[in-house]
Amino acid sequence: MATTDNRMNIHVVAACPRLLDSPLNESILKRAQERDLVKIHVHDLRTYAHDKHHQIDDYDFGGGPGMILKPEPLFLCFEDLFQRFDLQGTPVTLLTPAGPVFDQKKAIQLSLRKNLILLCGHYKGIDERVLEAFVTEELSIGDYVLTGGEIAAVVVIDAVVRLLPGAINDIDSAEGDSFQSGLLDFPHYTRPSELRGRKVPEILLSGDHQKINDWRREQSLQRTRERRPDLYAEYLENN
Ligand code: SAM
Repeated sequence: MATTDNRMNIHVVAACPRLLDSPLNESILKRAQERDLVKIHVHDLRTYAHDKHHQIDDYDFGGGPGMILKPEPLFLCFEDLFQRFDLQGTPVTLLTPAGPVFDQKKAIQLSLRKNLILLCGHYKGIDERVLEAFVTEELSIGDYVLTGGEIAAVVVIDAVVRLLPGAINDIDSAEGDSFQSGLLDFPHYTRPSELRGRKVPEILLSGDHQKINDWRREQSLQRTRERRPDLYAEYLENN
């Protein structure tokens, strides 16, 4: 079991922190926090807006529809986090459709860090001066536009935390997942061995582990070749 010393700390700066509540408190993410593998700190941007209405957004200079996250609460928030949690020098990751697309390789890289700081945009976006002052890397979860970065942050956190040693009970389980080896996962079956005339492939019931491994590997190769020729080409290049 991990101790507080090697625990990962994830800080999420969010305009709508409640969007994170349920996903962070279920299943493997919940258990990883209970096991003290990770502590997830969600920071409500509104608590750093000190005007009467705790306003965090304002109009876009130059006109146009949509509101922009104001810079002052974000400056105050980062200054506070850097000081209070001793985070100077920690990369700040902005969730944005403009960033490079998040993938398993990036999840593995992030899982090796001690601290993550994730900044969620909202509305039309964030005052650019915040990016200039604090943001050191950007990540997109795909080529589409979400309402806010909170759900994108959940995707990143989920993919990263399940890779922390001890998060998944069977540590070999993550190793066989799609992308981890550069290939898509093979098909899985559980009991019963026959359902409404549909049978589990005979080989999986044979008890011959070498043959089962060969079959699974062939299935992975075939699936990747058919469904993700881009991945397959990359796999052939590296193997
Ligand atoms: N105007 C922005 C643009 O066109 O790039 C989109 C703003 S979007 C409505 C609001 C926020 O959602 C963004 O600031 C970002 O934090 C988040 N977001 C939206 N799509 C995302 C994606 N594909 N990946 C990561 N974050 C995303």
